[in-house]
Amino acid sequence: MATSTEHTHADLHLRHRAVLPDWLATYYTSPIELTHGEGRHVWDAEGTRYLDFFGGILTTMTAHALPEVTAAVSEQAGKLLHSSTLYLSHHAVELAERIARLSGIPDARVFFTTSGTEANDTALLLATNYRRSNQILALRNSYHGRSFTSIGITGNSAWSPTSLSPLQTLYVHGGVRTRGPYAYLSDAAFTAACVEDLEDMLGQANGTVAAFIAEPVQGVGGFTSGPDGLLAAFKRVLDRHGILWITDEVQTGWGRTGDNFWGWQAHGQAGPPDVLTFAKGIGNGLSMGGVVARAEVMNSMNANSISTFGGSPVTAAGALANLTYLIDHDLPGNARRVGGLLRSRLEAIGAGLSMVREVRGRGLMLGIELVDPGTDTPSGSAAGLVQEAAREQGVLIGKGGRAGNALRIAPPLSLTVAEAEEGAAALEMALKQVQSALE
Ligand code: PLP
Repeated sequence: MATSTEHTHADLHLRHRAVLPDWLATYYTSPIELTHGEGRHVWDAEGTRYLDFFGGILTTMTAHALPEVTAAVSEQAGKLLHSSTLYLSHHAVELAERIARLSGIPDARVFFTTSGTEANDTALLLATNYRRSNQILALRNSYHGRSFTSIGITGNSAWSPTSLSPLQTLYVHGGVRTRGPYAYLSDAAFTAACVEDLEDMLGQANGTVAAFIAEPVQGVGGFTSGPDGLLAAFKRVLDRHGILWITDEVQTGWGRTGDNFWGWQAHGQAGPPDVLTFAKGIGNGLSMGGVVARAEVMNSMNANSISTFGGSPVTAAGALANLTYLIDHDLPGNARRVGGLLRSRLEAIGAGLSMVREVRGRGLMLGIELVDPGTDTPSGSAAGLVQEAAREQGVLIGKGGRAGNALRIAPPLSLTVAEAEEGAAALEMALKQVQSALE
């Protein structure tokens, strides 16, 4: 392995595929060096073009290099880079007002952060402070971020490098329906079993429980979810105990799921939640996150309401332009229409492949569950191979799930029908290639 003294960054740039930056912690062993993007495509340093079917990990909500966002950011960057939550900037004020209205939470207050992790940490601060308890209910297979506290509510062992936590977390069923006995239950029976599990966990709690946190569709967990209405059934139990409901909309917000603006809205009578966290898509790649909460919950931590970079005028300007574009161009509606077509196409492809156990999801948040061909055994290695083969075909996808065996497809919400077809055709080639190699 090369050392940092043997290779300068200039070497790295020229020979990026041969030389790995061992002075930089990376996720992939062979990451692509991206140089620019446009619309739904990105380019690497060698000039190869890729269709971005992972939307920059669901951050690129509208499109890469959207001119409206670029203009707003450039204009603001020329005026003032920083204000923090100490001062006001008119973009942040307008953005907060729009998000407060969109959230559906009555008497809503917004607090800006720089990431989803920080948003969830803030939500936990609020809930534990408000309820004077450090007990939290979370879903199995969940992912809520990589800080010490948010890892403490992450129920996916592959993403929890530590079992130590300042929180006492009780994990309940309700996020996964793809494997195991729960998968074979009807919606009503599944919901009843999960509610029973919740009641059981509450029986094991040590006094007051502060909050229940859930992703309406589990992102890193492999784009899995319980049936619509499950969270409404949970809410009835939570209300009886005065437990706050935090909805983590970091992946599911802004119309990603097509049918609804927020993931929680698939659960009918469930809402509104007490606290909502967001990040990723709102900034279109800029570091923007935040929390929305009822005033009495938000005000429980007023004295500590400073985030040095939260709601910076530059990110707020970009996020506001991004949100405006999303709504003016009805991109949630586009996600519903194009996502529906893409899902049907992927289902047709999957029907002919014994490696594909399930195609699931809604809008432009689609998952493909892979197993060893002809079996029910989740196959993380198949997912890795398909991801690599898709990249060779010029399409970037993500993967996740408890066994790392789910492909995750989440392009920018402006995806066209032709691009959906381009991506599906490349995925078909990749899936067939891997299936015949594994058979
Ligand atoms: N919550 C969910 C549902 C996520 O998927 C993620 C990141 O993938 C986070 C929180 C953490 O967000 P960030 O990586 O911006 O800290």
